Amino acid sequence: MLDKGLLGVDRSDSIVRMKIELQARGVRIPQGMARELEAKYNAPAMKTGRFTLCLESPEKNVIPAFIVNGRRAAASPLHLVKTGPERYEVWWNDAKYTDVTPMPRPHFYDITTRSGAPMYKLAVMVGPGHMRSVVNQRCYYQQIGQPCQFCAVHRWWDANIEKNPSEIADAVAAGVREGVAKHISLTTGTLDTPGKGLEILVETATLIRDKVQVPTMLEFEAVGDVPLLTSLLREAREAGVTTVSCNVECFDEGLRPKVMPMKGRIPLATYVETWEKCLEIFGDNEVFTVAIVGIGEGDQSLLRGVETAARLGVMTHLVPHSPAIGAAYEDMPSPSADRMISLYERAVAIYRKYGLNPCASQAGCVRGGGFSAIKDVARFGAANDPASSKDGEATGKEDHVIGGPLSWVN
Ligand code: SF4
Repeated sequence: MLDKGLLGVDRSDSIVRMKIELQARGVRIPQGMARELEAKYNAPAMKTGRFTLCLESPEKNVIPAFIVNGRRAAASPLHLVKTGPERYEVWWNDAKYTDVTPMPRPHFYDITTRSGAPMYKLAVMVGPGHMRSVVNQRCYYQQIGQPCQFCAVHRWWDANIEKNPSEIADAVAAGVREGVAKHISLTTGTLDTPGKGLEILVETATLIRDKVQVPTMLEFEAVGDVPLLTSLLREAREAGVTTVSCNVECFDEGLRPKVMPMKGRIPLATYVETWEKCLEIFGDNEVFTVAIVGIGEGDQSLLRGVETAARLGVMTHLVPHSPAIGAAYEDMPSPSADRMISLYERAVAIYRKYGLNPCASQAGCVRGGGFSAIKDVARFGAANDPASSKDGEATGKEDHVIGGPLSWVN
């Protein structure tokens, strides 16, 4: 089949499909425009090829698309075009594909912490209302030369690589007080500690709780020491954590050791044990796992994994592999939009079968919606413009349903 990228723009694409295409192909940013975006908008990571563009449905739903421009972006037919003061479009070769809006630059980015670092080095906005921090970007598996092949956590953001939890709490408090941060996600590279780094996430959440009340999600690796896991999760709950994601990345037992030389040694049974403990403490619609699509797995193993997790009560956040510079898989192709749409639709059907609602979580990446189109497909479907929600339950935490001019927080 001829690659759609070689053809002209397809004007029948829905907004949801457009987001998926942007994420699959990357969006070329002209040099001068990158500097302007960095200075004026929420784009502090242009240097590492990461930024968020927002699409807008005719009904004023904001659909954030977090984009990782790896090497493939240089050959992408998609590129950003400035059409007027503060007006941007993405073009497909020589024709307009969609309007996009970069998010405004929050004021807190220009505040400095006690140690003199600008706060965007501690935590950043990755979507409307969604603030995120990677507490420690120095993953132990990378230190010992055994990183997950798709990962470039050290290049995640133009940030302090090892952040001070207390300074993260200051940045979060500033974002919440400014009114831009409505929920937080905290993650870390795996650390060489008994809890694999969960300890520092809990410590950070506790320091945040001492300053502001804000729904928070923690993302971490499975922890086999159940008493330790239980105690850390309870402490997290007391610190105001509402949502958790214990990330499996790949369900295929045969593939896991190849893609993740260290993390892949953790048996899926340990994930199941961790998820069950998470469900006991955080409850329905607040426990997730991430699976990366396009790292060598087949559809069947992926969907079997989604179903196994859903049967327990865990939703799988499907994220397209966006080959990042600095990862071993930096030249691997991204999954096509057609494959992503088919998997999103089938995963959403599995969620529904088990009574799970991806639009109900209080915090984190699924609520934020930028990294994946799974929530967009659940709410609107992939085929048509989102004239109305497909999911009658999808009314819980709507950061992106807006009336009037484009709004950046819920
Ligand atoms: S994905 Fe793998 S290499 Fe990357 S931070 Fe997590 S454990 Fe480390």
